[in-house]
Parts: sequence; structure tokens; C-alpha cells
Amino acid sequence: MANTEDLARAVGTGDRRALARAITLVESTRAADRQAAELLLTHLLALAGSALRIGISGAPGVGKSTFIEALGAAITDAGLTLAVLAVDPSSTRSGGSILGDKTRMEQLARNPRAFVRPSPSGAMLGGVARRTREAILLVEAAGFDIVLVETVGVGQSDTAVSEMVDMFVLLVAPGGGDDLQGIKRGVMELADAVIVTKADGDLKPAAARAASDFQAALHVMRPKYPGITAGVTQVSALTGENIAACWQDLQRFLHQLQAGGHREALRRGQGLRWFRSEIQALLGEAIASDPAIARELAQLEEGVARGDALPYTTARRLISRFLSLDGREAPP
Ligand code: GDP
Repeated sequence: MANTEDLARAVGTGDRRALARAITLVESTRAADRQAAELLLTHLLALAGSALRIGISGAPGVGKSTFIEALGAAITDAGLTLAVLAVDPSSTRSGGSILGDKTRMEQLARNPRAFVRPSPSGAMLGGVARRTREAILLVEAAGFDIVLVETVGVGQSDTAVSEMVDMFVLLVAPGGGDDLQGIKRGVMELADAVIVTKADGDLKPAAARAASDFQAALHVMRPKYPGITAGVTQVSALTGENIAACWQDLQRFLHQLQAGGHREALRRGQGLRWFRSEIQALLGEAIASDPAIARELAQLEEGVARGDALPYTTARRLISRFLSLDGREAPP
């Protein structure tokens, strides 16, 4: 216990090594670590919440890590501190990450104003989402001004990330099938801004075409916040062109969001949805970990799979049974 309190205190002072240990703790699936992680987060919750939270999504190879290096340099040159977290559901199944953490963002990783944390592996997306949300709270408690959450947009990871940030940015590259047709409509609906990378050299004309296509697509969509849009920016992370202007655009959007009271409403909604999803997840885990219920579940699943039993009725009966079992075993 005392240990966790010491760790919380160290994180609160901005100690990097303590922060790294704290994130490892929230990433752990061991029951004892989970308890310590909860205690740690409880201690630090009051210190969290003040960073600007930005999600960055884009297909592998689009230029995310190069862009984040360049943007990160602009952010830290301005005297701000930056934490980069990653959500990569691919690291779950294959053990190998699309985000290829080890060699990425080397400059930023050495920058004293930045903190780069690779994506956790070995968990389902739901677990990764919880840990990333908790990692956001930890880096905020450690005093970071900006949090970037990077994802590859595999499966539901775009939606998951958009639920934990103030602003969701889609990165696209000119040509190479990454044009408007190649982008899922759902992702466009989540995007507050589109950044066209690699707007340099031979790719410049294609980048300009992609930018006007995306601009037109954003224009016909219902704005998330009336009167506030970040639109489409073309940048080159390689030459640095427009990176500073892009950072100004992102900041302007975030400040408008805050000034209009939208950010508070957004975070309230996100917090409530996180809470509700934890209720469902924990209930599901409790059911699955009860041996008697697990046996029954296996039998019931067979009936449902055959089409002999109605899923709704079967689920309702199972839950009633679980609740009555739980009631009997509960202490008075
Ligand atoms: P990620 O997989 O999305 O993180 O993409 P990377 O940042 O690793 O970049 C993929 C490739 O695109 C690399 O070969 C980069 O050198 C190249 N690249 C990234 N940004 C730019 C850019 O602004 N201009 C050009 N021409 N190439 C870039």
C-alpha cells in the first residue's frame, strides 16, 4: 500500500521512471496489480484532466510516426511537454505490432520534454482501451500538457480512441490507395481534422488533389460542433513544411472547443460511456469466472447455436440464475 502511495507521489512530481512503472502497473492483468493500479489511479485522479488530448489515426505507412516526430518537435520547441501513447490492436493477435514500436520516434523518445510509450500487447481491444485511458490519466497527473494517442485504425480502434480524446485527427497520404474511396465512411465521421502528409516533391500535386477531395467530403458532412472546424491541412513531415501551421490549427480547434463548453460536455459523455462499458465488461467477466454459471453457459450456448433456444430468453434466464447464485453466496 505504502508503495503505491510513494509511486503516486513520484508520478505526481513528474518522475519519468515512476510514470513508466505506473503505466506498466495499469497494463498488468494480474489481480494484485489491478488492485494496486486502482489505488494508484484513485490517488492521482484529482491531478488528471488538464492536458489537451489528441487522437491520431492512419493506415500503416501513411507517415504517422514521422509526422508525430515533426509535430512533437514543434510542440516541445514551444516549451510544452508531450506524451505519446499508442493503441495497436494488431499487437494482440500476432504478437507483432503494426506500429513497430521499437524503432519509431527515436528523436522524440530522447527529447526531455517528451514521453513515448509503446502500445501494450497481449490483450483484447477492450483491455487495451481501458489501459490507454488509464495511461492518459497517469501522464496527465505527471504534468504533461499534450497527450497524443496514436492508432492504426484496425477493427474498432478508431472508435475506441475517439472516445478518449478531445480531438480526432485522420492522417492520409496522397496516392497509394489512401484516397477518399479507400477511407471508411465511419472514420470520416469521427474525424475533426484531416491531415494530408507527404505533401512534398513529386507527391505535391497528388496531395493537393487529396486535400480538396477530403475538404469536399468534410463539407457535406454534418459538423460535430457548429461553427468549429479544423478542416484539411497539407504537411510534409520530411521537409517540415506546414508543421508549425498545422500545430496552430490543432490548437485553435481545441481552444475553440474549450471556450464553447464543448470539451466539458464531450468529456462528461466519454466518462459516462466509459463507466457504462465497464459495468458491462465487469458483469461479463463476473459471469464468465463463476464456475457453475460457466458450465451452464456452455450448455445453453449449444442450444442457442442450434437455433433451439432464443438468445434473449436464454441470456435473461442465465443472468437471473447468476444473480440468485451471487445473492446466496454474498456475505450478510
Ligand atoms: P507510419 O507507419 O504511419 O508510422 O509511417 P512512417 O512514419 O513510418 O512513414 C512511412 C514511410 O513514409 C517512410 O518511408 C517515411 O520516410 C515516409 N514519409 C513519412 N512522412 C513523409 C513525408 O512527409 N514526405 C515523404 N516524401 N515521405 C514521408
